[in-house]
Amino acid sequence: MFEHNWREVAAGWLGEPWPANLTRNAAGEMELAGVPVTQIAGEYGTPIYLIDKGDFLGRAAAYREAFESAFNAIGSEASLYYAGKANLNKSLARWAHEVGLGVDTASGGELATALAAGVPGAKIGFHGNNKSLGEITAAVKAGVGQIIVDSLGEIDQVAEVAADLGVVQPVLVRVTTGVHAGAHEYISTAHEDQKFGLSIHAAPGAHDSPAMEALAKVLDKPSLKLLGLHSHIGSQILDPAGFVAAAGAVAQLRAELYRRRGVLVEELDLGGGFGIAYLPGDVPIDPGVAAKALATTIADTSAALGTPPPRVAIEPGRSLIGGAGITLYQVGTIKPVTVHGKDGSIFTRVYVSVDGGMSDNIRPILYGAQYHVELANRVGTAETQLCRIVGKHCESGDILVPQVRLPSDLKAGDLIAMAATGAYGRSMASNYNMLPKPPVVAAADGETQLLVRRETVEDMLALDQG
Ligand SMILES: *Cc1c(COP(=O)(O)O)cnc(C)c1O
Repeated sequence: MFEHNWREVAAGWLGEPWPANLTRNAAGEMELAGVPVTQIAGEYGTPIYLIDKGDFLGRAAAYREAFESAFNAIGSEASLYYAGKANLNKSLARWAHEVGLGVDTASGGELATALAAGVPGAKIGFHGNNKSLGEITAAVKAGVGQIIVDSLGEIDQVAEVAADLGVVQPVLVRVTTGVHAGAHEYISTAHEDQKFGLSIHAAPGAHDSPAMEALAKVLDKPSLKLLGLHSHIGSQILDPAGFVAAAGAVAQLRAELYRRRGVLVEELDLGGGFGIAYLPGDVPIDPGVAAKALATTIADTSAALGTPPPRVAIEPGRSLIGGAGITLYQVGTIKPVTVHGKDGSIFTRVYVSVDGGMSDNIRPILYGAQYHVELANRVGTAETQLCRIVGKHCESGDILVPQVRLPSDLKAGDLIAMAATGAYGRSMASNYNMLPKPPVVAAADGETQLLVRRETVEDMLALDQG
């Protein structure tokens, strides 16, 4: 049925895009890791972010095994960092660490969360295109294993902080290769028009590329150790071709640096961006296929350039947590609206309002992201009707799913589950309309665990000094 699925499939799995341990029981109700959704809603309320803990750990282990074995096979190594920005709390950071991953952070708050989880500084990466002096100081003091520097000015700042603290800080230089990839294709161009990284292409008339200038600058700083190069080409990538093109380009830059300066950096960090299934029928990127394609490119390019292969790091976020998470909403107002189609047709669209919306998932509005929903507490009648799932915010654009067919006996109080909301839901959530952020609850082996409690109106008012 889903032959492409690389995961170990739990018995009764509902298939992509649902978590591996999401099933329907004999009564037709969804259960996450054996816990009925009505029980979860009864205990914690809705809306609620749910994490299939076993699925998160399984995806992390699958990525780790795939990359370690592919790179060991070419006489090298792979290290993995969970990209915390996708969804970060102390439990997720600790679980990632426990399955052998580091944690990537991109702000002082993310860094503090990983440290509070007990992740050792050496297993933390620190990112950002505009790191504050306070953040840099916190990262160097924490002994983070790698700071990914993003500009020439930042190199001076990190070097100064490290020198003041009497340490040598390992850094990667984030470069842009001109490869940009998304869900369906990649483009390669020498032109860069984005805020991240330093281009590997020299500007017309310039002697060196910004990337080479940055590398030379790092090498001149005694308080910095040049660990390697970093490249992140995009997100929700389903075809490994973009990763392969970027890997080849950074491997070439590594060889050029070796030729010119005699320095062979040990690590190439190829970033995150591995794509997942959002809708039924979507085929996620297979970590085994991606790992082998990258290992082959790194081996071939290194051999052609006469350099030993580097260690490779990757930073998956969405591909570890996205599909392991769902959101549970309760249905409220149901309103049939007569729609006059552009083609002259007249039809009824049923607006189904749920108790969350754009504050707990901004992606549909922000990127036109598509999601799959199903009635969760029961199966409903076989007959379906055209529905639009909308939130409770004061915004007509507050649409979670523009078009979906749901059972025609759908009623207030029913529960709706939205698939693949584990990444960039909670982490991008807002308090629009003063809605408290939903809790994050994990389920495993028939039990639930509260990871982050529901925000309260009192939490929000506590900030208000009026
Ligand atoms: C966003 C980001 C990631 C994670 O991306 P995913 O698409 O969630 O895998 C990794 N590295 C960097 C530098 C990023 O900006």
